[in-house]
Amino acid sequence: MLVKEIITIIEAFAPLAFQESYDNSGLIVGQENDEVTGVLISLDCVEEILEEAIAKNCNMIISHHPIVFSGLKKFNGNNYIERTIIKAIKNNIAIYAVHTNIDNVKNGVSFKIAEKIGLKNCSILQPKDNLLSKIVTYCPKESADKVRAAMFNAGAGSIGDYSECSFNVDGVGTFKGDENTNPVVGKVGELHLENESKIETVVPSHLVNHVVTSLKLAHPYEEVAYDVFNLQNRYANVGSGVVGELIIEEEELSFLKRLKKDLKTDCVRHTKLLDKKVKKVAICGGSGSFLLNNAIAAQADVFITGDFKYHQFFDSENKIIIADVGHYESEQYTSELIYEILNEKFPNFAVSLTENNTNPVNYL
Ligand SMILES: [Zn+2]
Repeated sequence: MLVKEIITIIEAFAPLAFQESYDNSGLIVGQENDEVTGVLISLDCVEEILEEAIAKNCNMIISHHPIVFSGLKKFNGNNYIERTIIKAIKNNIAIYAVHTNIDNVKNGVSFKIAEKIGLKNCSILQPKDNLLSKIVTYCPKESADKVRAAMFNAGAGSIGDYSECSFNVDGVGTFKGDENTNPVVGKVGELHLENESKIETVVPSHLVNHVVTSLKLAHPYEEVAYDVFNLQNRYANVGSGVVGELIIEEEELSFLKRLKKDLKTDCVRHTKLLDKKVKKVAICGGSGSFLLNNAIAAQADVFITGDFKYHQFFDSENKIIIADVGHYESEQYTSELIYEILNEKFPNFAVSLTENNTNPVNYL
């Protein structure tokens, strides 16, 4: 197994294009063509994780948090980041991070937490705009099935839980090739009219080049007419947080106590109870305070996340219960999620979860 084969599986689930602009997901140390002896998965990639990888003969670490977040200028071992990188390079260990891109996909980090606490009917809390494009092409009627299939196979045509979505209309195309052309229908130098189908379909923008390449390969003409439009539409499958419902509504206090148990946390910091039942729950793994207004707008009864600051608790305005379960605690199941993605594709490959708890926060 090569590093790039592992990366392909991870990025098919969580494309790098979906990471936030400030992020540094991807291959941080190592080369794509290196052979992988084993993969160790952790939330953080720190020195003790490197030690564990060495002991377990794993030469690739996949962590949620990127060990390098902003530019490093020196490698002297003066802090834990520099020491981790030096140790990885000395021991030929690849470091890969799958951070906000796995936060931002359907069935990603927050959906995993939702699964652990038993939420149903889950959807993304704050879907993103401007990540979709429309491709329109024109081809001879008899080639339309083949061209459509090629575009779908390359990743076009998904809307929500529907696949192979397109709109098609028949019409007449015209063209006249000069002496440098070799048209598959019609004659050089003569205006030709051809019965064509217009096919339009939607595609995630990061797949446009791939879809266009596949479209050209399947299309019979030597010059393929196609248009690409950027869409402002919301992409329901990509964005931050999740909102879902409990099957049976629960008392506020018993829900928070259950949360403490399910998320194995020593402390849930929460705003005051509102004396109503909990049915709708919003979640954001990690630092999710930026989604508070989305959680309120979604009419969630509780918002579960980490890293809320003192003054931000006031912003709940008695409209929602903020439940801060801790950053590490909220994201602890991310390692399991990454494990499942790899294990589904490579059930026999050496992938293990760390036995180290890297949470730097302790409770007394
Ligand atoms: Zn995090």
